[in-house]
Amino acid sequence: MSDCLFCKISAKKIPAKLVYEDNEVVAFDDINPQAPVHVLIVPKKHISTSLDITDEDNALIGRLFRAAGKIAEERGVAQRGFRLLMNTNAEAGQSVYHIHLHLLGGRQMHWPPG
Ligand code: 5GP
Ligand code: ZN
Repeated sequence: MSDCLFCKISAKKIPAKLVYEDNEVVAFDDINPQAPVHVLIVPKKHISTSLDITDEDNALIGRLFRAAGKIAEERGVAQRGFRLLMNTNAEAGQSVYHIHLHLLGGRQMHWPPG
């Protein structure tokens, strides 16, 4: 999608601090980190929200979680604990309409998240 920020980052048209890449997934540090580790894990395929995921994407969604685990190991938060989340639509605070898993770690997380 030509005017999508995360499509542009995954196509390297806009710079980001990449921390992981494979054929279908890219991950980079969040520009406004909310924890010592705050990485966004993004499919290269444009999918607007979690509601737009189809059966065709089942393996791709699995790859997002597998990438998240690898990054959590690399960043040293896997055993301590980390949070994975995907905001969906306005009331959840979704601001970029290209799905992404937030990986947050390196500090105590709170619940409810607010
Ligand atoms: P959302 O609010 O959609 O769940 O998450 C979007 C995230 O993207 C936010 O945490 C925001 O800080 C991050 N973000 C927005 N623009 C950029 C950017 O240009 N580069 C990077 N690395 N992160 C961005
Ligand atoms: Zn996109």
